[in-house]
Amino acid sequence: TDLSRIRNFSIVAHIDHGKSTLADRLIQETNTVASRDMKEQLLDSMDIERERGITIKANTVRIEFTAEDGQDYVLNLIDTPGHVDFAYEVSRSMRAVEGSLLVVDSTQGVEAQTLANVYQAIDADHEIVPVLNKIDLPASEPERVAEQIEDVIGIDATDALLVSAKTGEGIRETLQAIVDKLPAPAGDPDAPLKAMLVDSWYDAYLGVIVLIRVVDGKLKKGERVKFLSNGTVHHVDRIGVFRPAMTAVDELGPGEIGFLTASIKQVRDTRVGDTITHEKGGTTDALPGFAPSQPVVFCGLFPVDSAQFEDLRDAIEKLALNDASFSHEVESSAALGFGFRCGFLGLLHLEVIRDRLEREYDIDLITTAPSVVYHIHMRTKEGEAPEIIELHNPADMPDLTHVDHVEEPRIKATILVPDEYLGDVLKLCQDRRGIQLDLTYAGPRAMVVYDLPLNEVVFDFYDRLKSVTKGYASFDYQMIGYREDYLVKMQVLVNEEPVDALSMMVHRDRAETRGRAMVEKLKELIPRHMFKIPIQAAIGGRVVARETLSAMRKDVTAKCYGGDATRKKKLLEKQKAGKKKMRQFGKVEIPQSAFINALKMD
Ligand code: GDP
Ligand code: MG
Repeated sequence: TDLSRIRNFSIVAHIDHGKSTLADRLIQETNTVASRDMKEQLLDSMDIERERGITIKANTVRIEFTAEDGQDYVLNLIDTPGHVDFAYEVSRSMRAVEGSLLVVDSTQGVEAQTLANVYQAIDADHEIVPVLNKIDLPASEPERVAEQIEDVIGIDATDALLVSAKTGEGIRETLQAIVDKLPAPAGDPDAPLKAMLVDSWYDAYLGVIVLIRVVDGKLKKGERVKFLSNGTVHHVDRIGVFRPAMTAVDELGPGEIGFLTASIKQVRDTRVGDTITHEKGGTTDALPGFAPSQPVVFCGLFPVDSAQFEDLRDAIEKLALNDASFSHEVESSAALGFGFRCGFLGLLHLEVIRDRLEREYDIDLITTAPSVVYHIHMRTKEGEAPEIIELHNPADMPDLTHVDHVEEPRIKATILVPDEYLGDVLKLCQDRRGIQLDLTYAGPRAMVVYDLPLNEVVFDFYDRLKSVTKGYASFDYQMIGYREDYLVKMQVLVNEEPVDALSMMVHRDRAETRGRAMVEKLKELIPRHMFKIPIQAAIGGRVVARETLSAMRKDVTAKCYGGDATRKKKLLEKQKAGKKKMRQFGKVEIPQSAFINALKMD
């Protein structure tokens, strides 16, 4: 295709502002999909995305549009995930296109993810076309929202498009604006092949599918290509584009976005941001590339039924095939048996993976409390090299006598909230050890920026924020680095025995409160025994909270003595069966359900 007839773009928006609906309308208006195949939210393919109305993996579609000048244009849309956990995917798909539609719900206005995503687009040097959506609704205030876009984001919104993705109003104008306002891609068809590896995923039939953006040169089926990052060579079996179904093409030239398959076995063999060229006569000049995404939240996943460990392993390995940002290794716990320590990009990512394991693979799971990655600076002698341990699991925290200091990850959180809830939001952030960085107004809403410890956010921060603001706050964050604080490992001891699955890292000032909550909960959850059981929370050797579970008065079978022997036998058998689900800690038996409930967050 002639470069001047191509436009590549993405859509950026806050969740629920109508990005997927708009994408559907653009596809429908251009008859990319026959009407009978059109289903709502065509680009959101995974079940969980559909149910929650969120987009997780970036998706791509090529549409053709006859513009007012009578010429046919090829428009490539890369749909990006809207959620903060996937900011990294947003940033890389932005590098593959030249412009963005900025969709803002005209009944709501700019929200935290609008800002986070539009800043990514600005970083990628995009031309940005503002779209005010949902103008069919009576509460729509397009003038006010346009003004807010100008004030808060600082881009011109005088020509913002007025759209209803629901009724289809403004859709043709949007297509025309894409052609008129977004730049055509640059590139040289005669230069050596240079293509960017934008994304990759595993397909059960075709193996790994690689999404590429051709920068220079041309790629044809059957050619041999080289990945510059590692020098591997592959024979290209297929090339094509998404309409949105995969459709074979003869060649992909500069400015085009499409896919290739090349009998690649795992997603891990493809590095996002890599440069793809021809094996012979290719370029040696690599594109800037991306740093691999790092998991920031870890938790243990254990099967409720330990017999399902192998099933869990299979399921996790299958999911990992498709998701290089999800890490896992075997973990064993005295309380929970064998399971996996898994790393995620954030809490939503964690939930998505856990849900898929439970739903698609039918495995009941116990999830241990999420933990962030701490940097443990070990005590070293004069002249020795510094030693820093990355701690993924509180159970592995070294003895305090060997630790010099601990650093924790911090985030910069941006929260937009109506004025009346501002006080509650400030209090919440303050309670979570936050440091206020900024407080301004974005139209009628306050915009607060806080420096917060990530570990205070992974515990129910988002839920608390939603509840104190009745759902009106929006929230986004980015990692800003590590900082030292007084962090300690809190252990839980039942009858003097430590229970590893319940260990957690806490700020020293909160240890009492957290410890108290945990021991009180456990007192309710652990059945009584024939003897008293102390339940303690401790830091190092120091107990910070304690409860005592009093002894049971009678033997279960006592009332059967001298009575019916078969009844007694039955009772004992029943007890034995119950024991299978019990875990032994010294003399104490704790039902597995107690761990599950103790780990649940209120
Ligand atoms: P996304 O999270 O940005 O992808 O948003 P969706 O496309 O999933 O839309 C969120 C909700 O807004 C859905 O219930 C849509 O039906 C609704 N919606 C989207 N666009 C419009 C619109 O123009 N008018 C109205 N009334 N509702 C819309
Ligand atoms: Mg969506």
